[in-house]
Amino acid sequence: STTSNSLSDKLQMTMRRLTGRGKLDEKDIEEMMREVRLSLLEADVNFKIVKSFTQSVKEQALGEKILKGLNPGQQVVKIVHDELKKVMGDEAEGIRFKINGMTTIMTIGLQGSGKTTAIGKMAVWLRKKEKKKVLMIAADVYRPAAIQQLQTIGKQVDIDVYQEGLIDARTIVKNGLKYASENKYDVVIVDTAGRLNIDEEMMQELKDVKEIVKPDEILLTVDAMMGQEAANVAKSFHDQIGATGAILTKMDGDTRGGAALSIREISNIPIKFSSAGEKMDSLEAFHPERMASRILG
Ligand code: GDP
Repeated sequence: STTSNSLSDKLQMTMRRLTGRGKLDEKDIEEMMREVRLSLLEADVNFKIVKSFTQSVKEQALGEKILKGLNPGQQVVKIVHDELKKVMGDEAEGIRFKINGMTTIMTIGLQGSGKTTAIGKMAVWLRKKEKKKVLMIAADVYRPAAIQQLQTIGKQVDIDVYQEGLIDARTIVKNGLKYASENKYDVVIVDTAGRLNIDEEMMQELKDVKEIVKPDEILLTVDAMMGQEAANVAKSFHDQIGATGAILTKMDGDTRGGAALSIREISNIPIKFSSAGEKMDSLEAFHPERMASRILG
């Protein structure tokens, strides 16, 4: 994968130099941490996270056992790996399905963040991995093209779409949920208003829709190409609407890793999926462990 390319490259170089070393002293560790710090900052990871990250790795690496132990270099690499994992939330968090009845997922996100595409991919993922019958509800009524786009995606992947055109989103959602339960869908994904900027009116509408849907999951799409700014956007949405998870989109681009490593710490939203590329089967459940390994190569 090309995910977090430059971060991987830089950290890999630093770590490769480390692994061969039989002995390390405090100066070696200090120097390594300077390089790790630079790599993370260049990858656009939030500076507070970089600071606590390197501090924590340093403290652990300076422990007697590691400096004098067998393969101290490899042990430091392991510490960096575990810290990367921790920053991204440690454990993978999947979708929480309703035990009895229809699971409802509300999706939120800025226009252009890849929300519509991610909804289609998630529907495909739910059908394939969880054997669910999925309905997508088109309630992004601010961008006329959004409804058309969701329908096009629905046709492309053979997933049903409920739409009523550009009427009030609250009405569409009410009717759509009724339709879904009458027709025995397992999961409903609601597409909601996306704007270029976060504004009052959008937030109010999202709150209203949330009130109607009472979603099991509120998933926020964040564009990984935004770097650490993605984490600030996530925090704003989370503070106002509350989100149960994030979908990191555009992970195929030159994402540099800043978004993946900043979101959890800044917004406290667990990353549940990552999405990469144009193909509709490119959604993956997010695993901090795998991502940490990927970053370190
Ligand atoms: P929305 O406005 O949030 O619904 O975003 P869209 O789903 O319409 O996506 C916005 C643009 O980003 C479109 O041109 C998509 O083709 C593109 N896009 C969406 N997801 C991805 C992805 O994972 N990788 C890449 N490279 N482009 C994506």
